[in-house]
Amino acid sequence: MHKTYIKIWGARGALATPGRGTVGVGGNTSCLEVRCGRDLVILDAGTGIEPLGQHLERQGQPIRATILFSHFHLDHTVGLPFFRPLRNKKNHIVLAGPKLTMGSFRQAITFPFRPPSFPVTLATFPARMQYRTISLRPFQIGRIRVVPFLLHHPGGSFGYRLNFPHGRSIVYATDNEPKSAAHARKLTRWMAGADLLIHDGQYTPKEYASRKGWGHSPYPFPIETAAAAGVPRVLLCHHSPSHNDRAMKKFLREAQRYIRWHDLKVRCELAVEGQSIRI
Ligand SMILES: [Zn+2]
Ligand SMILES: [Zn+2]
Repeated sequence: MHKTYIKIWGARGALATPGRGTVGVGGNTSCLEVRCGRDLVILDAGTGIEPLGQHLERQGQPIRATILFSHFHLDHTVGLPFFRPLRNKKNHIVLAGPKLTMGSFRQAITFPFRPPSFPVTLATFPARMQYRTISLRPFQIGRIRVVPFLLHHPGGSFGYRLNFPHGRSIVYATDNEPKSAAHARKLTRWMAGADLLIHDGQYTPKEYASRKGWGHSPYPFPIETAAAAGVPRVLLCHHSPSHNDRAMKKFLREAQRYIRWHDLKVRCELAVEGQSIRI
């Protein structure tokens, strides 16, 4: 029996956006829980990792988890020192991510969390912590096979395809912007046949026209890439902080119209905080 699911704890891009206008889709930044039996992978440590930490702590068991980072922009890392399981020495947390800068992965992830920008360093937390540098070679987290891919984003970002032992797979690709036909073809091959794509879809095409080079995608890009790769379901994520729930509803209707108009065989939804999906 494989109990495999994902749960979204944060899907906002750039900046946490709390308030009455965003309670529907949620205001926390990128954080996804992936469970496959006993294996726990957390994709990115945006502000959504704080409520996830509370949830894990309430279960009262020692925690073994890998936090896998796409890149080091603050909306994907800022929640890390607020992840409560780091405060318990019985827990074992692996921090894994790419080397995208001059220094090591460890230097990049620990850099913001020290005085004067943060009161303490990560080394002061009692949990057992390990640092693991990811290259573009596939690797294993427990029974999950992880296939990394380089995305197009200022400073770089890694996307991850997670292949589960029961034959299903998901792709997490944020932050990413269309680059070239050749890169789009490589992306398509990398995600071919996956069951679910969770992809940056921050802008409408109209918004994107004035935001090229900012590192994010207009919704047609993930939709078309998924259709070309035979992925039946897309969750758009990295929602713009300037889109409240009303704007997001309109955004989704527009994306769905695009699918109908182009007769694409894809189901498109918004990644919504609190949502679980059985894989
Ligand atoms: Zn981001
Ligand atoms: Zn980024």
